[in-house]
Amino acid sequence: MTVLALDFETANERRDSACAVGLAWIEGDRVVRRESRLIRPPEMRFSPGNIRVHGILPADVRDAPTFPEAMAEFLPDLAQGLILAHNATFDIGVLRASLAAYGLPTPALAYLCTVRIARQVFPDPEGCGLGKVARRLGIRFQHHDAGEDAYACAEIALAAVRALDAGSVLGLTHALAMPATAVPAAPPPYGARPDGVTGRAVAAARAARGSAAPKEIAFTIRGSTGNRYAVRSEPRVTGLYLRCSCQAGRNGRRCRHVDAILDGDVTDLLSDNHADVERLRRLIEAAPDGHRILPERLRRAA
Ligand SMILES: [Zn+2]
Repeated sequence: MTVLALDFETANERRDSACAVGLAWIEGDRVVRRESRLIRPPEMRFSPGNIRVHGILPADVRDAPTFPEAMAEFLPDLAQGLILAHNATFDIGVLRASLAAYGLPTPALAYLCTVRIARQVFPDPEGCGLGKVARRLGIRFQHHDAGEDAYACAEIALAAVRALDAGSVLGLTHALAMPATAVPAAPPPYGARPDGVTGRAVAAARAARGSAAPKEIAFTIRGSTGNRYAVRSEPRVTGLYLRCSCQAGRNGRRCRHVDAILDGDVTDLLSDNHADVERLRRLIEAAPDGHRILPERLRRAA
């Protein structure tokens, strides 16, 4: 039986907003294969808290495959194998919600949660978060990188196998009297829900049509010293320009506040208009040639 660890990072609080996946396959007593992929979530809305955790920006995943594209090569192993995940209800939830968001069926799954395993085999007052268990066991990895997290999860399971002399991960389920949790197959969801991908694509298309004559878009950004700066779009005959109220912007230079908006980095965005970041990007993409807000143009502009 294939045994593999799975870890997702998400763009926001929604379970169907995966932006990265990591997998680590176990054979015998070791990890034999590791993979990770970036994923373009159906809605390009990244929450500052999520960006702080994984460091992935909208700009990083704009050209990445969608969830079904990225997962196609891994789904057979996930469906036939035993999945390990640290706090598994989250990762299994992401897998199911994302397939459902694309109108796809969920295969039957079986999983084991390594948090539950760690609580029994490596209990400690400081808790059993991935970073903490890994540190106690001397597993070296880069926390919050999906590929690295999946690897650490697999190594925690292997450490438990060794600690209990269980022989294998399957043997661990017997040693701990902890059977794998079975998730029955689910048919594709019926119709396009208003908050599903199709529904949101329709809403986005309508919003894009409505913004043919763009009004000003304005953002408030927190500078590195805590000052607030205003980044505003200025429609001109030659195209759209972004102007920032910081010293560099007032002197007509490109600044990191404008860069952040163009990268979709909302970490320091104080104004409550995350959606405008993506709206601005669509305007830039839709602009006819010569009227694009390209970095060079911006540098010359202002
Ligand atoms: Zn600035």
